[in-house]
Amino acid sequence: MRICSEERETMGRRHRWRRVEELPLACYYKPAEVPAGELEEVTLLVEEIEALRLKDQLGIEQEKCASQMHVSRRTFCRLLDSARMKVADALINGKAMNIQGGQFKMAMSKYKCIEGHEWQVPFETMVTSSPEYCPQCKTPSIMPVYDSGRHRHFHGGD
Ligand SMILES: [Zn+2]
Repeated sequence: MRICSEERETMGRRHRWRRVEELPLACYYKPAEVPAGELEEVTLLVEEIEALRLKDQLGIEQEKCASQMHVSRRTFCRLLDSARMKVADALINGKAMNIQGGQFKMAMSKYKCIEGHEWQVPFETMVTSSPEYCPQCKTPSIMPVYDSGRHRHFHGGD
């Protein structure tokens, strides 16, 4: 996964995970008229799209958006401003938009074990520690389940 300047800043500190409830349906947008050779690209973080979704698509009040994403109001404003500026830049200047990366965990993460048991781990648990064994059969052979290929893209292929 690409490391953005913001992630580099926070590396020494404790990871601050942002809670994301829904992933966008597509991860890449490209203007039809611009030839590939001239195409510029902006990268939007997954949590920036989540900020847009909550505030601009669902019209949820800012304070509520922030608490839903487990960030301060100030951080939420920063994510939202950044998302809006990038989208505007892409739309006005004919750039492609690539949605990728960030510091986020899903509201619910799905896991399965080698025996086929499946279970879900809420964000609140995931921020402290990822699961180490299956709660049913206790095997440590477990893996995250992605609903579709797009999850893999957004999570940076882990
Ligand atoms: Zn199991």
